[in-house]
Amino acid sequence: KTAKDTSAHLEGAEKIGITIDKNLDFPGWYQQILTKGEMLEYYDVSGCYIMRPGSYAVWEEIQDYFNGAIKKMGVKNAYFPMFVSQRVLEKEKDHIEGFAPEVAWVTKAGSSDLEEHIAIRPTSETVMYPYYAKWIQSHRDLPLKLNQWNSVVRWEFKHPQPFLRTREFLWQEGHTAHLSFEEADAEVLQILDHYESIYHDLLAVPVVKGKKTEKEKFAGGLYTTTVEGYIPATGRGIQGATSHCLGQNFSKMFNISVESPEGADKPKLFAWQNSWGLSTRVIGVMVMIHSDNKGLVIPPRVAQTQAVVIPVGITNKTTKEQADAIYDGAKAVENQLLAAGIRAVGDYRANYSPGWKFSDWELKGTPIRLELGPKDLEAQSVTVVRRNDSAKFQVKIADLDAEIPKILDQLHDDLFNKAKESFDTHRVIVEDWKDFVPALNAKNVILSPWCGVMECEEDIKDSSAKKNDGSEEEVDEKAPSMGAKSLCIPFNQPELKEGTKCVKCGEKAINYTMFGRSY
Ligand code: AMP
Repeated sequence: KTAKDTSAHLEGAEKIGITIDKNLDFPGWYQQILTKGEMLEYYDVSGCYIMRPGSYAVWEEIQDYFNGAIKKMGVKNAYFPMFVSQRVLEKEKDHIEGFAPEVAWVTKAGSSDLEEHIAIRPTSETVMYPYYAKWIQSHRDLPLKLNQWNSVVRWEFKHPQPFLRTREFLWQEGHTAHLSFEEADAEVLQILDHYESIYHDLLAVPVVKGKKTEKEKFAGGLYTTTVEGYIPATGRGIQGATSHCLGQNFSKMFNISVESPEGADKPKLFAWQNSWGLSTRVIGVMVMIHSDNKGLVIPPRVAQTQAVVIPVGITNKTTKEQADAIYDGAKAVENQLLAAGIRAVGDYRANYSPGWKFSDWELKGTPIRLELGPKDLEAQSVTVVRRNDSAKFQVKIADLDAEIPKILDQLHDDLFNKAKESFDTHRVIVEDWKDFVPALNAKNVILSPWCGVMECEEDIKDSSAKKNDGSEEEVDEKAPSMGAKSLCIPFNQPELKEGTKCVKCGEKAINYTMFGRSY
């Protein structure tokens, strides 16, 4: 904060708070809680944002978890360059067709034009695979399992949104090569389970696992699996992270092959490959789901600060000794929490009232605050207040080490269950096309019996994009009348009764597919 607005804030707690209602202006609210909560700052290149420590800390928790999980699977971290030559980028035709409109190019160095233009990676298949071809010579070189933590650039023309859709974003991308399809196939789902864990166990966000349709799968891949989330405030779905089986398409293009273990005279074997990625989008999903009109609500396992300790109850009548005892008590509680492995901070700023500090930490989404005043001190307890629902209770100081972790876990579970209930009640089964658009308009995502034909999927998108009066198509992604995309074919399927027809075209349905307006 600048000195100027700090003085403005001092006049009253309400001045630092959120002024836009989540239910009335969701995009305005989202922007305000991110900036006022000090997670993110806008930047002067459109579609790019600064991740401040509050959001970077969330990312680091995710990195810690995921690194642990993939290293157990034998995946190693590495780093490849951000640049890729035009020749190599364009080697896999379907792949480049999928990405071409979003690729940013370096065409100049200083004032001289480059003879060969160089692309900035939108993803690293083409950066890495020429070297996979070099390193993989014998079946003993398989599997090769590398991951990198990096940024990629996709010059998206859709409306940018902090975290959800940015032109440069941080992610991890894993790229593995295997001798058999079975091995690659199994890994795709192991990774998807880790992605589900990141959402469920760290971010307290429910997701639905499934497979993408042919239309929505990764360009150049064999099949794509995904975890899909739901934003209750807008009723829109969001792709959470994807784990792709690339098949042998890239290995054939890049000649990633080994001699048959049966002998040099047998045909060589092309590697079966996977790639999988999870981006900083997850932070936006978490924020949109849990936060409220007081600011951010950050789930405890990823919060930079899990507990803030605030001395309270000091008035004009409080003697210096009493005040010192309260401050010392608060400091001791902070140290006790730190020693117990809790990310705690004490707020001892003398020139701010407790009420102002409460609002300030609520804005930042700190899961719990511990108040320590004269009465608490006397009773050797603290007042604990939960950020998500303002629930208050007393905890004995002697019990803090055991109780605070339990309180944080309970808070996590409560956030998750609330979000899950919302997703569950807004994931509705629609069998008749006439109910489809009304269900979308009621902020639902939809499970419908579907034929699996790409043209029918396009028809569903077009037909659900029409305004209610049937007039021209609405193309603005922000408009409530935008068309529904397929989100995934959930692994967990409702029973498909014999003879069930596709919700749109009336042909034989092959499964239930989840559709929704989406980000
Ligand atoms: P993809 O390589 O297209 O399958 O994307 C991998 C993951 O990155 C997706 O599941 C998204 O969660 C995320 N992602 C894709 N595009 C963006 C973007 N522009 N900004 C942030 N995250 C993105």
